[in-house]
Amino acid sequence: MKIGVLAAQGAFIEHEAVLKKLGVAVKEVRLPADLDGLDGLIIPGGESTTMVRLMNEYQLTDKLKELIKNGFPVFGTCAGMILLAKKNSSTFPEPLGVMDIIVKRNAFGRQIDSFETDLPIPVLGKKPFHAVFIRAPLIEHIDEKKVDVLARLENGTIVAARQGKLLVSSFHPELTDDTRFHQYFLDIVSERN
Ligand code: GLN
Repeated sequence: MKIGVLAAQGAFIEHEAVLKKLGVAVKEVRLPADLDGLDGLIIPGGESTTMVRLMNEYQLTDKLKELIKNGFPVFGTCAGMILLAKKNSSTFPEPLGVMDIIVKRNAFGRQIDSFETDLPIPVLGKKPFHAVFIRAPLIEHIDEKKVDVLARLENGTIVAARQGKLLVSSFHPELTDDTRFHQYFLDIVSERN
């Protein structure tokens, strides 16, 4: 199995380290040709406006959208989640529009702009997942017929979801030693349908 990590900007090295720990071949993706021969892609956290601009500049956007339409698995964390959304309720950036969620950037405000919490995520088992939020977006709305909620904060805010082979989290699973969230993505990649 070979997984690409979008390496335009942001926290891609950390994702690569987790994938290597899980024994998976990793490829940094910057150009359209880098997407060839991959089984899946991770879009990391970073600055979503910059990432969208660079993806357009590198001519990655259209090719990636086409792949996703044909079932290519993608895991977006934080800014990566913003990129996959159908709509971002802030003015910028314009997301790829491939997942039926509406997100809000920098949703937790200045007071609590970064925080950590132990989150129950039933698909990962009983043990809560230590989730690190850094100027995180939240999911404001999902299409309930198409999207499964994987995790919520205590107040009900949706912070992780799945639609087919698309997986998103508001938080940064690559910043902890717990590899379960990445393993869950690899399981999605391995599923036949
Ligand atoms: N605040 C960033 C954005 O809106 C996302 C933060 C992150 O990815 N850690 O692009």
